[in-house]
Amino acid sequence: MHVVVDLNRCQGYAQCVFLAPRVFALHGEEALTYTPAVPRDQEERVREAVVACPVQAILAGERAGP
Ligand code: SF4
Repeated sequence: MHVVVDLNRCQGYAQCVFLAPRVFALHGEEALTYTPAVPRDQEERVREAVVACPVQAILAGERAGP
């Protein structure tokens, strides 16, 4: 699974960081970084993050990303 975050949309609410800290990280207030190639054991957490993001900035799936 791949993940892409629309960083123009992301407001730094950090829901994704709480749910999947091995995939998403916040540096400072709004600088989100993430691992585009999601490890298999993190996929469920990433799906939860997709649902939890208040601004629907996270796109995840086999077709997301490169
Ligand atoms: S939950 Fe959404 S808005 Fe919040 S940091 Fe993650 S991607 Fe950004």
